[in-house]
Amino acid sequence: MNKTLLFICFMFSGMLQAQVNFNPDELNIIAKGERDSFTRRIMPGYRTTISAYDVNYYRCFWVVNPSIRQISGNVTVLFKPMQPGFDSLVLDMNQALTVESVFYHGQPAVNWLHSSDLLTVHFPNSLPRNLLDSLTVFYHGVPPDDGFGTFVQATHNGAPVLWTLSEPYGASNWWPCKNDLTDKADSVDIFISAPSVYKSASNGLLVETYQAGANKVYHWKHRYPVAAYLICLAVTNYASFTQLVPFGGDNLHVLNFVYPEDSATAAAQLPSIIPMIQLYDTLFGIYPFQREKYGHAQFGWGGGMEHQTMTFVADFQFELIAHELGHMWFGDKVTCGSWTDIWLNEGFATYLSGLCYEHLLPEFWTRFREVRIQQITSRPGGSVYCSDTNNIDRIFDGRLSYAKGAMVLHQLRWIMGDQAFFTGLNNYLDDFSLAYQFARTENLKAHLESSWGQDLTWYFNDWYTGEGYPQYQVNWSQTADTVAFSLRQTQSSPTASFFALPVQLKLKNTGHDTLIRVTNTFSGELFKVRIPFNADSLIFDPEFQIISGNNIVSSVTEHGLQARLQPLPNPATDHITFRFGGLLSGNDGRIVIYDDFGRMKDEVSAAAGQTEITISTTAYPAGLYLYVFLGRDFRDSGKFIISR
Ligand SMILES: [Zn+2]
Repeated sequence: MNKTLLFICFMFSGMLQAQVNFNPDELNIIAKGERDSFTRRIMPGYRTTISAYDVNYYRCFWVVNPSIRQISGNVTVLFKPMQPGFDSLVLDMNQALTVESVFYHGQPAVNWLHSSDLLTVHFPNSLPRNLLDSLTVFYHGVPPDDGFGTFVQATHNGAPVLWTLSEPYGASNWWPCKNDLTDKADSVDIFISAPSVYKSASNGLLVETYQAGANKVYHWKHRYPVAAYLICLAVTNYASFTQLVPFGGDNLHVLNFVYPEDSATAAAQLPSIIPMIQLYDTLFGIYPFQREKYGHAQFGWGGGMEHQTMTFVADFQFELIAHELGHMWFGDKVTCGSWTDIWLNEGFATYLSGLCYEHLLPEFWTRFREVRIQQITSRPGGSVYCSDTNNIDRIFDGRLSYAKGAMVLHQLRWIMGDQAFFTGLNNYLDDFSLAYQFARTENLKAHLESSWGQDLTWYFNDWYTGEGYPQYQVNWSQTADTVAFSLRQTQSSPTASFFALPVQLKLKNTGHDTLIRVTNTFSGELFKVRIPFNADSLIFDPEFQIISGNNIVSSVTEHGLQARLQPLPNPATDHITFRFGGLLSGNDGRIVIYDDFGRMKDEVSAAAGQTEITISTTAYPAGLYLYVFLGRDFRDSGKFIISR
């Protein structure tokens, strides 16, 4: 889901309209809204179902009136027992709902218990393993309205509207279901009966409408696996229109249910969904629910929710619809297998909205990353991994699950290159054990490692479970055509160690500029490059490719720069002198010397202000030696020879 509050509106030549989140403070307000809602959502007493069956199908028949906050109806569950001796089925069902009856094999079941938000149906005998069976629950009630507003009755322009928003725990507030992240129903049929003046939106294809007294029934059919929290309903006096997205020789229909008073705005803004769908098709494979539809239904919550094939949105702004559409691939087709991995939904959807800027409105792509980096580095700690799903601040932290999740992906792309990055993501989406099912972060990591051909444990340790970010001190100077610069790194979080990253720098003057990419492997590393002009400034990470903050760039004289150690003479006989080139101003350290077998021969301290150190080598056998300088903010190493 996504909640967007601040927009800068502009017109794009042609049909696209875009609104861009530019203010990190506003992004934090968005996140705070989500956190506060979630704090109310996780109520004491909530339990997830652990029951050994596989949900095959739900047939839901719901009777609602958007003027009244209540629901009645029945839900038929087709299920397969997964274990021998299966003699009871447990569904999640909030106590605020009243069970009227449970039917099993056409007869009222006599033995069921609705307690502690669980409905347990006991069968007369244990059921055979793997044999499809079913039961039907008849119920009614007023669902508790917690979280983001699980089941909300409101008005727009004087007209009543009713909508649901179940993520993450709210589905069982309004219908009996298996409400967890281990089991998707393979398909659903949803019948919504409401007064005839209204239209009812839901998942999948609208296959029929028919009158039932004063009500009109909308029958929606969805034939793809779906998690319970992605099943929805919304009812009001919608106006509707359909868009067509060309798919080879076919079309995908985008069905829009919009408030009548917003029809003109929707018609002006929604054309941008077409190139977005085409873009994601190109990057991530064909739209995952292509045999059915994509759609938008307007609702009154201040953001969007990625209900499978029928996103609910407050409005139709560029970044919001790009984010929710992205969820069809990341969140709906492949769903996070635990709320600790919520970034697999939200980090991706956020990044995909960035990809829409990159490809459709490129003038905003760099700024998109800059704003996310500002948001991430506004505080020193925090990991993308959510260690405590009872801590709502952690699950739906806009800074960590959304912004940092997105930039951790972008940074990976910067490291791996486009080919390996996008190949890995496509393989992840197409993995038969993940597609239309659930995934964990280690599944994503494995696919990226496979496509890149290199281990990424270090990266996920630094950026998924790890906290904080690097802060760089860049000292640079130019002599003739050579620019020397040193990269010294500290970390924002005391739990973090050195972040090994490729970094980009720009050297420029009024008439020229050049981009340099180097891989920085230790703090204090010195680099030299040749450029054909005199630079008057150096800009660190000018394109916002990596997560870093509080960086300082200083132009320094040659003597202030950390030049490499020079061992003289080399080969040496009875002594060797290490010259520092003035680098020891402020740089305490020590030189350690090893022989060719790796045995330490000497260790000599070097104090700030020293320009050279001489060591007697009369006791050294002839041979090859390694020296290592370990300074406070730089390291250097090399070899010298003792000859006799
Ligand atoms: Zn989202």
